Amino acid sequence: MTDNVTSNRETMGFQAEVKQLLQLMIHSLYSNREIFLRELISNASDACDKLRFEGLHNSALFENDSELTIHVSYDKEAKTLTISDNGIGMSRDEVINNLGTIAKSGTREFFTQLSGDQQKDASLIGQFGVGFYSAFIVADKVSVLTRRAGEKIDQGVSWESDGGGEFAIEMVERAPRGTAITLHLREGQEDLLNGTKLRTIIHKYSDHIVQPILMNKEEWKDNAQQVLDEEETINQAFALWARPKTEISDDEYKGFYKHVGHDYEDPLAWTHARVEGRQEYTLLLYIPARAPFDLWERDASHGIKLYVRRVFIMDDATQLMPHYLRFVRGVVDTNDLPLNVSREILQESKDIEAIRSGCTKKVIGLLEDMAVKDPEKYTKFWDVFGRVLKEGVGEDFANKDKIAGLMRLASTHTNSPGETVSLADYISRMKEGQDKIYYITADTFNAAKNSPHLEVFRKKDIEVLLLTDHVDEWVVSNLSAFEGKPLVSVAKGGLDLGKLEDEAEKQEQEKDAGAFKELTDKIKASLSERVKEVRVTHRLTDSPACLVADVHDINANLARLLKASGQKAPVSQPILEINPRHPVVLRLQAEENKFDDWASVLFDQALLAEGGQLDDPASFVKRINQLMLEMSSS
Ligand code: ADP
Ligand code: MG
Repeated sequence: MTDNVTSNRETMGFQAEVKQLLQLMIHSLYSNREIFLRELISNASDACDKLRFEGLHNSALFENDSELTIHVSYDKEAKTLTISDNGIGMSRDEVINNLGTIAKSGTREFFTQLSGDQQKDASLIGQFGVGFYSAFIVADKVSVLTRRAGEKIDQGVSWESDGGGEFAIEMVERAPRGTAITLHLREGQEDLLNGTKLRTIIHKYSDHIVQPILMNKEEWKDNAQQVLDEEETINQAFALWARPKTEISDDEYKGFYKHVGHDYEDPLAWTHARVEGRQEYTLLLYIPARAPFDLWERDASHGIKLYVRRVFIMDDATQLMPHYLRFVRGVVDTNDLPLNVSREILQESKDIEAIRSGCTKKVIGLLEDMAVKDPEKYTKFWDVFGRVLKEGVGEDFANKDKIAGLMRLASTHTNSPGETVSLADYISRMKEGQDKIYYITADTFNAAKNSPHLEVFRKKDIEVLLLTDHVDEWVVSNLSAFEGKPLVSVAKGGLDLGKLEDEAEKQEQEKDAGAFKELTDKIKASLSERVKEVRVTHRLTDSPACLVADVHDINANLARLLKASGQKAPVSQPILEINPRHPVVLRLQAEENKFDDWASVLFDQALLAEGGQLDDPASFVKRINQLMLEMSSS
């Protein structure tokens, strides 16, 4: 080494989050140590993909060596493992950024929020995109040598760290293009210095990697394994999705998922198809078993990997999946796009539109199939992704009915709280004469289940769907009917039970409306602007009053949601409905002095019962106390 080389050696500190992560790697992940190899090979493979892609525009980058491979070797004496690739490599700045920080801000935030127990969960690591640091699970020193494709030989970079707070970086001469990562194994990790062991790990985690993973051949000689000069390919090294379905085992599908899905758990299900016709493409799409941590983040990366004729084009091709299927992972490989396709072109491409619609159909088909053939598995899916899928009712007009058919909803007619029904179940149980699907929306399951609006439905044993996800308001505003049956809110408009009410009941209602006209007018006058109308209802059996929204007004739950999300909700006055059989209402009829107080309390309690907030809670409490005192003194 010349002075010149040593003089450019610099020591730098890791970003604080990286230090934290390194601690986690070293202390918590020991039981899952093998994943380090998977991560480093996956990075090497990504580096080869990147070179292949950049090389499409600039073939000089290949430096006359376009056979991209990954090597794994070990040195028993030095107790080192080396993983090298002839991919894109890194410049000095790239090394500092990529191996000194956690680049993705969402990842960083997520990481700092993790509780101690979650941090021990190795399975989350893949989702972080912090795979490189897993090298420190087995190594107490890691050295990286790299040269970016196209750069001169003196532009090599050496990076070294013991996983403490710092790393050293230095410019060096390096002839081979790409990156070599050498792990100096910790004490107790020597069993990894074994060809058979390494081959087993590579098969287990990295068989699906598209580039050949090479190791030197070995043979038994004099009771010891001898490493030969000749190399052999360890993995299958063939795009899994391009192979015929019949030749692929479930384990291979699962292994590939872990690579494309950045997940350590098995997927819940997958669909693999070759589509021929106007567009020709192959898709291999997976439903994960659990939600990625950023499922609800607005600009989280999602989408699938796009290949054109087996050449990797881009990650996270969001155009290939609608937003409500953002949890789907996998690859699409098409013959119809140019290799130099950009994200901008994708946005406008008719071919992509057709592929997206094809992929969407496949995923929906997969879910429909699962719902029928394996309801238990489907329930698992629904618990994790149901709320996301529901967005599709409003987002995807063409598939709206199918998505509605996939919904699983809480209802008054299930036995336990977690249990759900489909709209088809609901319809199959409808009462004779029932022609509508009734639902209620509320903030919580209990608020829905105990709402006064349900009283008459309970009495008549009519099923009502209990919708308590935020997205449900959006669903019902986009879904006016299912299989020809209109969806009707029980908290909106006049109660119209159609044929579910007999003539006698209808006549009684008319009679009551007349008999209570004076009272309802008086209450309206007393409450004035707070209500749009006051009327008699038969929807109540136990409660004295409830609020309903007028047919074209937005209901109270939606108004609250809009307000909570900082949006302006149109102010609409509710309609107060009173129960003509209730003693409190009858008592009110006779009330003279305190009529206004009684009317106010009636309104306020109706508002409370449906989860609303009182404008003036203190006055409500005062009135209640006064009334209680009067009762006890009379
Ligand atoms: P991820 O792969 O999810 O981005 P990693 O921690 O595994 O996260 O790697 C961090 C970054 O380091 C990569 O994104 C890549 O830019 C760079 N990197 C790691 N290994 C290599 C390699 N073998 N060749 C080139 N770049 C690499
Ligand atoms: Mg990685």
